[in-house]
Amino acid sequence: MMQAYWSEQVALVTGSSRGIGREIALRFYTLGAKVAINYHQSQQKADELLKASDSNRLKIYRADVGNEEDVHSMVEKIERELGSVTILVNNAGITRDNLLMMMTAEEWRSVLATHLDGAFYCTRAVLSGMLANRHGRIINISSVSGVKGTAGQTNYSTAKAGLIGLTKSLSREIGRKNITCNALVLGLIETEMTEKVDSEVLAQYKTLTALKRFGKTGDVADMVEFLSSPKAGYITGQVHVVDGGIL
Ligand code: NAP
Repeated sequence: MMQAYWSEQVALVTGSSRGIGREIALRFYTLGAKVAINYHQSQQKADELLKASDSNRLKIYRADVGNEEDVHSMVEKIERELGSVTILVNNAGITRDNLLMMMTAEEWRSVLATHLDGAFYCTRAVLSGMLANRHGRIINISSVSGVKGTAGQTNYSTAKAGLIGLTKSLSREIGRKNITCNALVLGLIETEMTEKVDSEVLAQYKTLTALKRFGKTGDVADMVEFLSSPKAGYITGQVHVVDGGIL
């Protein structure tokens, strides 16, 4: 029965050329879903995923999620090639850390555009299909930084806190159509994004984490799989923390 469920799903994972998004996309693929990999700059990594897949259930789509036209064309193409999106994971993200006093308007805007405008454009673009099908799962990837704040990340924290507001309000608009919308608050998960973090900060982070380790991308994919599955049909508007025990 679960196999039949997954084979009927079309999952769009934004920013899935690398890191957490890649792991989530590969999980959906393994489960039997059709998968749309979205990338922005890492064409080569997206191509590698395409080559490694042994069926036409996985396709790659270039789009800057912060650009409305890019998102519109991407979703149109996905609908033509794979069908209506039933699972959307708003995962694409960047960091442009700086103290607020020093932060440029570009650092501020680019982070908000990728995380917040991106989630808005992608969600709006796939929603009509979900409404027509009376089924959908939307998962927004937020961060501990959006809940408790991090010095040097006012842009990122603002965007990640915004995603929680989006999740809560949207869940109330679409619940009656059997579409759920949840947020994940992630702690430190080992990816290229965390390679940029200062080693002292990383050590401190580990000390503060109850499980005394950083997260793996698979830890996130496990929660996304559950929230996208029929087992989570009565869970919406919630913030689920996957942080090894920091908050
Ligand atoms: P990552 O390894 O740096 O990967 C970021 C992904 O986002 C890449 O696939 C990148 O694609 C894509 N992306 C960036 N800008 C984009 C845009 N404008 N349009 C489309 N795709 C774009 O980051 P990660 O660690 O996997 O993080 C994934 C998500 O988890 C982010 O939202 C991040 O904020 C969140 N998060 C991560 C952690 C952590 O510890 N790693 C903690 C909390 C939350 P290209 O390379 O193709 O441009």
